[in-house]
Amino acid sequence: MRPNLSETPGQCEPRALDASRSAFYLATMPDDSHALLIRLLDAPGPSGFERAPARLWREAATFADDVTADVNGNSLATVFPAPDERDGPRLMFAGHIDEIGVMIVHIDDEGFCWFDVIGGWDPQVFVGQRVTLLGRDGAVPGVIGKQAIHLMDQAARDKLSKPYELWIDIGAASREEAERLVSVGSAGVLGSSVLRLPGQRLASRSLDNRIGAYVVLEALRLLAADRPSVAVTAVATTQEEIAYTGGGARTSATALMVQAAVVVDVTHATDSPKIEKKRHGEVKLGAGPVLSRGAAVNEVVFEMLRRVAETEKIPVQVQAAARSTGTDADAIFTAHRGVATGLVSVPLRYMHSPSELASLEDVTHAARLLAAFARRVETGTDFVPR
Ligand SMILES: [Zn+2]
Repeated sequence: MRPNLSETPGQCEPRALDASRSAFYLATMPDDSHALLIRLLDAPGPSGFERAPARLWREAATFADDVTADVNGNSLATVFPAPDERDGPRLMFAGHIDEIGVMIVHIDDEGFCWFDVIGGWDPQVFVGQRVTLLGRDGAVPGVIGKQAIHLMDQAARDKLSKPYELWIDIGAASREEAERLVSVGSAGVLGSSVLRLPGQRLASRSLDNRIGAYVVLEALRLLAADRPSVAVTAVATTQEEIAYTGGGARTSATALMVQAAVVVDVTHATDSPKIEKKRHGEVKLGAGPVLSRGAAVNEVVFEMLRRVAETEKIPVQVQAAARSTGTDADAIFTAHRGVATGLVSVPLRYMHSPSELASLEDVTHAARLLAAFARRVETGTDFVPR
């Protein structure tokens, strides 16, 4: 989900990375039903550099009839009404697989890497963090440096840090040494892994929106076991966090010429301290996926989702999006000749921090909701609001 900030888009840099750094967490999980989610969350994939999680996502789509990738890095998996019945209307499930991150803009003579932000960061988050950079030959660890408090005068102590005043230290002693590992344009993410919390809760730096990419794939897995009557394509879209007019979402929706789409992203849970519900609405962690209403959302899709939830006894919450939604829905509903679009969100605390927090109950419910919705869409379903 995008905040209302201005940013500079990143560039693509093909790099192969080891994406499975979470053996400990897999081993300590109560069951492995969400093992794929944990692996996806720990794979580094800042906007424009989504290869590692995208590859995992495609490899996991073994149940789909067709799995492809496109030039923007989108990954697409489709279940058809029957394996040889590939024409006809198409439904799209979209979950963006990129995450916010950092990018090196300059390496100085001492080997320190100066960086810009990918996506909408709270700059205060960076101080004291570790980072994982997507280097020339794989992951390169580093730490974010700042002058120690002992060395600051009072004015410096009172000032908030700006990202351009901080640097990444990868332990290199010179520019030459640093450039053997990384280069200007190398992207990265904060160096944190998934943390399991009591109950069904977990924290990760990339829940926004690896969790949505996971939900659309899980929904497709449910559909593969009990085929729908229209083709359904789950898309792990790219570049959502930096593309205000729609990155991979717009191009994939246009290429697929979809009749209808459901976007899965995260939304702010407002059940943690200091959030004004009169202003931001009431959304609780674990109380079910959130259905958005607003200009980007087709009213027929919204009503269908609400009715399906009621019939299937899936708890849902409703959220107002009076203007744009800050998600891929904004790009998809105006793609091609217009796409009937719905928005289902997973409640999330501490968005755009190294420790975003969500509930797996909401994830399971969201996947079930999408699958049940798809089974109610038929060739002649009329999405025109009348
Ligand atoms: Zn976001």
